[in-house]
Amino acid sequence: MECQRLQKLVKNWYQQVQDEAMAPARMVAFMDAHLQECEVCRADPMVQEEVNRIRAMVISLVKVAKSTEDETASQEPEAEEVEETYVDDDNDEPDEIDED
Ligand SMILES: [Zn+2]
Repeated sequence: MECQRLQKLVKNWYQQVQDEAMAPARMVAFMDAHLQECEVCRADPMVQEEVNRIRAMVISLVKVAKSTEDETASQEPEAEEVEETYVDDDNDEPDEIDED
């Protein structure tokens, strides 16, 4: 990777992904956008391959984090409570308190 700018950006983005401040898909999109607009990167024949490697790394990083998370989070969906139509006809008066 010859582009200093992209090197810095990737470091920065990668840190944010690790901190869960940025979605990995977003980082991938940013990298792709940079490749398209950066002249240094467009002239670098190796950069696309490196970006592909970084992309795979970022995605695997997330999968690891997600899979441990899912284990605790995966719960059976709660059965919906059947709402009984219950009409309360009589007035439930609170028990009278005997004063004195
Ligand atoms: Zn670049």
